[in-house]
Amino acid sequence: MIKLAKPHISGKAIEKVVEVLKSGNLVQGKYVEEFENALCDYLNVKNAIVVSSGTAALHLALLALEIKEGDEVIVPAFTFPATANVVEVVGAKPVFVDINLSDFCIDTSKIEEAITKRTKAIMPVHEFGQAAKMDEIVKIANHYNLKIAEDAACALGAEFENQKVGTFGELGCFSFHPRKAITTGEGGVVVTSDDELAQKINVLRNHGISYKDGKVDFIAAGLNYRMTDFQAILGICQLEDIDNIIIQRIETANKYNNELKKTNWIKTPHVYENRKMVYQTYHVLLDDDKDRDKLVDYLKSKEIESNLGAQALPCLTYYKTKYKLKESDFPNAVNAYKQGLALPMGDHVTTEDITYISNTLKTMFSG
Ligand SMILES: *Cc1c(COP(=O)(O)O)cnc(C)c1O
Repeated sequence: MIKLAKPHISGKAIEKVVEVLKSGNLVQGKYVEEFENALCDYLNVKNAIVVSSGTAALHLALLALEIKEGDEVIVPAFTFPATANVVEVVGAKPVFVDINLSDFCIDTSKIEEAITKRTKAIMPVHEFGQAAKMDEIVKIANHYNLKIAEDAACALGAEFENQKVGTFGELGCFSFHPRKAITTGEGGVVVTSDDELAQKINVLRNHGISYKDGKVDFIAAGLNYRMTDFQAILGICQLEDIDNIIIQRIETANKYNNELKKTNWIKTPHVYENRKMVYQTYHVLLDDDKDRDKLVDYLKSKEIESNLGAQALPCLTYYKTKYKLKESDFPNAVNAYKQGLALPMGDHVTTEDITYISNTLKTMFSG
């Protein structure tokens, strides 16, 4: 079976993890801080706070911004549910905005009509590793005095106009789940140039503890969202390889694009001049008359793993029921949910695999 994704862990990384395990310093050692410094350098941002998952990062971002009951947060209608779930968890209301079918990110022309007196923040998602239109989002946020918490969970290294995503808003959140370009097993990070927000997140990550003037005090109702040291050393080793990982992913995507460009019922990812796409997922859109789920089964019978790309949140039982959402208000999100297809991506996918996958796809509907 050609897997959809497969983490790449180098021999060196494994050795380093074993070293940490043998040292006995499993938490709150030196590697968490080292990983944070490496992330700051890579993203060109002042503060990085590594945490136990991408979802923990998003949760802490909203807590730090003091988003709470009565507040609204604008979220794209097509994403991984964690984006909206954290809004629910802090007691606020996610307000869904439809996406574009060209970048699968929030349609910035529809944000303003979703803003109310209660709106506090926008959470753009850089879906599949494609940057959302950050120039427009920053403009709107400034005009309406809204905060931006970027869900860059699957977009480490992606850029909008030569600036890395996750660094446009007050806060940026990333995931190191094995499906992402670099992994620590479970893991994530919040980045920010705002020292005060960074300090708040630091405290909230660690039970609300403050160490001011050598004294331990509890100054907030915090959580334990810390990352272990053996995960951090794994992250450090993985981050050393990220440039190569991204180059390889772009090459793989280009090969797919080339193989599939003449297949008129498959729309390959749009390439923008002013954005750097890192292809966390290689995601294509099928014509409406093609049965995506049947295609997934067919590919499976040919030893190719594939899947839908992301969820249309207004179609999910929880959100649909709670907010009485109409699917017809989010046509693009629903279309991407029904007709989107994620194909194998990563350094386990060979050129021969890409040709095989593309040819298999093409034969499915050839009669
Ligand atoms: C992966 C992902 C998350 C969740 O990250 P975890 O580390 O699995 O908690 C959230 N949002 C998006 C867009 C993601 O791709």
